[in-house]
Amino acid sequence: MSEFPFQLSDGEWRQKLTPEQYQVMRQHGTERPGSCDLLREKRAGQFVCAGCGQPLFTSGTKFESGTGWPSFDTPVEGGIETSRDTSHGMVRMEVHCANCGSHMGHVFPDGPPPTGLRYCINGVALDFVPDA
Ligand SMILES: [Zn+2]
Repeated sequence: MSEFPFQLSDGEWRQKLTPEQYQVMRQHGTERPGSCDLLREKRAGQFVCAGCGQPLFTSGTKFESGTGWPSFDTPVEGGIETSRDTSHGMVRMEVHCANCGSHMGHVFPDGPPPTGLRYCINGVALDFVPDA
């Protein structure tokens, strides 16, 4: 694991996050599709990391992918990092917060134009901050 600017101990993460958030964000889990209210969030605003508050996506880049997970075509610049994930017999690009390293989801090359990318993100890993 590389070092991230925002660091908490495992015990601190367990206190800060709900059990479901901890399982997704710190143990690379996946929420049940369609289970998160953020999937239906249509207001203008920012989606920030639920672990550290770093802005990761904006409402204008969210689209309905039909997968049951919040999906975006463009991340906030510098907000996330990706790494190669070969778990479950697949080669995928894992997405995590660039500030605290928490797991967010995966990015797939089948998104809409102009980026052609689909950031498939666990809603529990995000907090929504509506524009004032
Ligand atoms: Zn974070």
